[in-house]
Parts: sequence; structure tokens; C-alpha cells
Amino acid sequence: MKFAQEFKRSLQREGFPQKWIDSAIPYGQLKKCLKKVTNELQYLGLDKDTLAQLAAGDVGFHYELDEETGQSKKHFRPRLTVFVHLQDGVAVDAKLSPNTRDFLLRIASKQVGHREGSPDSSARRSLTPTNYKDISHGDASAIAEGLSAVQQVEVSLVFDAEFFDILQTDVLILDTLQEEEEKRMKGEITALGQVITHTTKPSLGGKAKGDLAKWRDIFELYLDARIFFSTRETDHGARTSTQALKQLQWFQDEVLKRKLVQNLKLEASRDAFSRFLNMNAFLLQNLKFQEINQVAVRKILKKFDKRTALGVAKTFPVVVHSDHLLAGSLAKDLCAQVSSEIISTVPQLDDYLCPICFAVAYWPIRLHCEHIFCSRCLVKMQRKGERFCPLCRGDVIMRAGLDNFDTKHAAFLREYFPKEVKEKVRANELERGKEIFGPDYTDRPCSVM
Ligand SMILES: [Zn+2]
Ligand SMILES: [Zn+2]
Repeated sequence: MKFAQEFKRSLQREGFPQKWIDSAIPYGQLKKCLKKVTNELQYLGLDKDTLAQLAAGDVGFHYELDEETGQSKKHFRPRLTVFVHLQDGVAVDAKLSPNTRDFLLRIASKQVGHREGSPDSSARRSLTPTNYKDISHGDASAIAEGLSAVQQVEVSLVFDAEFFDILQTDVLILDTLQEEEEKRMKGEITALGQVITHTTKPSLGGKAKGDLAKWRDIFELYLDARIFFSTRETDHGARTSTQALKQLQWFQDEVLKRKLVQNLKLEASRDAFSRFLNMNAFLLQNLKFQEINQVAVRKILKKFDKRTALGVAKTFPVVVHSDHLLAGSLAKDLCAQVSSEIISTVPQLDDYLCPICFAVAYWPIRLHCEHIFCSRCLVKMQRKGERFCPLCRGDVIMRAGLDNFDTKHAAFLREYFPKEVKEKVRANELERGKEIFGPDYTDRPCSVM
């Protein structure tokens, strides 16, 4: 299938909002305009084969996408400069045959070599746009040497400027749209974070506590799914929409399988979960929309180069200044916000473990280096006379005392991890009992036969 049709179909198939579809890359219009560019070049005797021949020699023409800042917006002013071989002021061959090209190269290398004082330097390597200018300034000496000169001629085209203006304008429209959607998304993420924080406050009672535990499981799965962005070493980076869709489906299936949503007690929690899902679906749709527009830009530039041999596929993305569409930073930014404003509202046990015994760090001792350990592990380190924090090597262990009990943090742990705290307290007591009464000590009540 031709890309133009494929592009149109995917825009319709994905169920994008009409506003998005209206802002999509006008691929058909660009293709028509490209035809005008091709005709224009052909008329001037600069068809793609001729230009390709020149380009292959790395000398012969130069195509720049300059920008002109007008009153309201930026305009492209592409410039095609051709270096032609003149004899007595007449272009010897308007079509610039391979012979002409060789001749151009020969003269150019002679002059550049002469100027730089290195006769060995090859023209291909040393001819930069600056050198081109030198050549034209050296007309007189070239004429004196070989009856002919290389002249740089600026070919003014009409339709290439139109082409790039259409493309640039649309990329800007897409960027603005993207910016709006991102802003809206950010608002929704913040709002959703607040809703989840409020509905899951353990102090609200049993239902909230139960839901908090479910949310914890939901978010643990969500993080495992790494839907839009992976932080793992093996597949680090942003996902494609196809990968993201697969990961999102996996997440939804797991949530269903484990009955996590059905078991949410509060209606507000269930509502929040469907909002959370919608938000992810929207992110995915947005990613998809960006992707297909990026592909459209790539394709049309490739087509431009194929039809004209002017070589813009590499230069356009640099000149165009796209903060959103071509930068593609959406997933990373929004994912960071999802984890800081939504996921973090439900504390994960992993973040509150003692780095030595890997149980919840209770009672929490906050050392002078700010690292937190459980009181048991601290006592044991002090008994062994260890001076340095195992995490940062700070000389803090022997300095720790009663002042280092973090009562606020302890209250937080009791509130958010009551089960884990209870287990840890019991384990601490058992360990202490064994230290005092010997290894046979048990905290179970004596049973009389
Ligand atoms: Zn510990
Ligand atoms: Zn430390």
C-alpha cells in the first residue's frame, strides 16, 4: 500500500480526536507540492540524475535551508547554489554532464590545493562551502590558467520554499497541539495523584487501608510493566507505541487476573482506577499519533531527496526547531510525573527497607548521613565496633544514639505498613530474647502438657 493511503487510514483507524486529524502532516498536499518542485528543477535542467551526479562528486552544488524571520512567523528560504563551468561567460553545458563534473573537480582541486599549499589534498575532502566561495573569487586566475572558470550560480526556486513552509507550519501546529495535550495530561496526573492520596489515607479507616494495599499491588504491577519507558539496562529508553500497547495490555490482564480492581472497596478508588487506565490509554494514543506523524515527515523528506537529490532528510530536522513532535520527549517526561505524583502517593515497601536485614526499617534510626537503618542492625554494628555507614562510608555509626530515633518516620511506617511493622517488632523481640535467654528462647506462650 502506498504510504499516503496508509497514513490516511491509520489516522482514521486509531480513533484520534478530529482536532488531531486536522493537524496531522498534510502528506497529500506536500506530495503535490513536491511534484511542482520536481517540474521546476527539470525545467532548469537540474533533474535528479544531474543533481545526483553532482552530489556524488561532493562538489557542484550546495543546498541550504536558510530561515527568514518574517513579521509573524519564520519562513524557509532554501538556497540552491550550483557551480558551473563557464567559458567566455557562457555555461558550457547546462546539463552538467559527467565530463563537466570532472572538469569542475579538476579545477576546484587545483585551486584549493594551490591556495592551501598542499597539492595532495583531494578536492572531495577539502571542498567545504567556504572553499566554494574561494573558487568563484578566483575566477580571474582560473581564466588565466585554463580559459575557463567555475562560477557559483544561485538558482532561485519557488516551490521548494512553499514545500518547506507547508511542512514547517504543520510541524509547528503539531508542536502546539502537543504542548496543549501535555499540559492537560499534567493537570490530570496531578489531580489523580491527589484523589488517590485522599482516598487511601489509612487514618480514614479499614476500607481505605484495604484499598491502599490493593493500590500498592496495582502500582507494583504497573512499574513492572514499564509501559512507556524502560529503566532496565537491557531495553533502556522510550518504548514504541506497539511495545507500549503490549505492556499496557499485560498490565490490565494481570490486574484483572488478580481481581485487584473488583476488590477495591471504595467507589472513589474504583473511579480513580478507571481514570488511571484512561490516562494511560490517552498517553498511548498520543504516542501513536506522534509516531505516525514522525514517519510522515521522514517519508516525505525521503521522497523529496529521491525525486530531487537535494539531500534534505538530514538537514531539515535540524533546522526545523521542533520541541515536541520531532524531539519525542513526551513519554519520558510524563512517565517521570506519573511516578512522582501518582505512584509515590502509595508508598512501596521496597523504599522503606533496612539495607542490612531487608525487613522494614523499624524502629527507624536516621544516622547523621541521613541513611535509615533498623535499630537492631544499628545495635549490632555498634557492638562490632563498626564505625562507617555501609551505604556511604560516613563515620556515623558510633555517634548514633537515642537522638537518632526518627519518631515521625516510625509513625509513618506504622500507618502505611502496619503488618510489616508488627512482624518486624516481633522478630526484633525474639532476637533480643535469644540474646538474653539463649538460643532456646521462644516468644510463644508455654504450653503445659
Ligand atoms: Zn535491619
Ligand atoms: Zn550513610
